[in-house]
Amino acid sequence: MNAISDKLYYSDPWLQKVNTVALSCEPAGENYEAVLRETIFYPTGGGQPHDLGSINGVPLLDVILREDEVYHVLSSPITPGPVECVLDWDRRLDHMQQHTGQHLLSAVLLKEYGYATESFHLGAEYSSIDISTSSFPVDEQTRVEEVVNSIIFQNVPIHIYWAAQAELDKLPLRKVPDLEGDLRIVEISGWDLSPCSGTHLSSTGQLSLFKLLRTENYKGMIRVYFLCGTRAFRDYQSKHAICSELGAILSVPIAELPTRTEQELNTKRELEREIAELKTRVMELHAQTLVSSGGESPLVAELPTGSLEDAKLLANSVLNLGTFSVVVKLQNHLFLAHNRSDSLHCGQLVKELALPLGGRGGGSPSSAQVFFPEQEGKEEFFRLLLEELK
Ligand SMILES: [Zn+2]
Repeated sequence: MNAISDKLYYSDPWLQKVNTVALSCEPAGENYEAVLRETIFYPTGGGQPHDLGSINGVPLLDVILREDEVYHVLSSPITPGPVECVLDWDRRLDHMQQHTGQHLLSAVLLKEYGYATESFHLGAEYSSIDISTSSFPVDEQTRVEEVVNSIIFQNVPIHIYWAAQAELDKLPLRKVPDLEGDLRIVEISGWDLSPCSGTHLSSTGQLSLFKLLRTENYKGMIRVYFLCGTRAFRDYQSKHAICSELGAILSVPIAELPTRTEQELNTKRELEREIAELKTRVMELHAQTLVSSGGESPLVAELPTGSLEDAKLLANSVLNLGTFSVVVKLQNHLFLAHNRSDSLHCGQLVKELALPLGGRGGGSPSSAQVFFPEQEGKEEFFRLLLEELK
């Protein structure tokens, strides 16, 4: 390639637009890769995803760093020569906020509790780090949040500079560099000194807000999920809207939501228990009426509405009153059961008689259920069943 393009995303990470020159644009698979004389587009690396934006109106698909050269992946070619580059600034600022927030969070965790950061993930929805501890209690989480937000409030300057390999031993770096040669150092004054190749804010105030979301155990470490800046603010907006809506539904102030929700759930559980008791009582009465009517075997009951559980409950209530075979009709379902001493096999009956008529179901020797999509099949099966269960 002609030249190593000038990385403006390092010298001025706040630059959102630039007029420059496209040095080349070559086919690469189904796409094209352009090299620019200078670029504002950050390529994937250092735990930070690549930038998006456009070159002469052609949207960027990806930005790749290969042998220190930045390649801009485009779906259609651009003509070498003067070009206008526009950065997707919201995306970049978001990445700078999450990335810088991670530096600060990792520094506070190390200083306050000695927890080292083992890895960092910057995702589309949230970011996470894995820290070297098997326990991160809630009181520590609260304190870490407070310390990080107080450093944001203090608007501490962030310096970025290059350090030669020989100087590195003298710097109290938070993490050991895994690269040879000169290193880019990100310093949050008084708090952190880390080698890093990402883009960062110029003071902690630009983080505006930090929020821990949750933690989970991960391979003997703790994974900490967090949000910074606009993401944290939007999360607050969205959660406040949800809480307000819930408050309106339950007619209580937000602060009373947990207590009120628990009360409502307790009431629901109590009602469900009462309904179950009443259903059992109703089915027992239904069974007594059926048995006392002195019908022939099998006893036949019809439930106009209800569930298969109701049909089972009714059949069992009948069997509790004596030795019977019983059929419960429930819309297009039939439930059959018996407690006779003969070799009657309900599941087998369904298999032999119902399946050829289009029924679907099965069961055990003592009970079975079958569903008919067509009324006709159900009536024919019922007729055959009456013969068999006599
Ligand atoms: Zn960084």
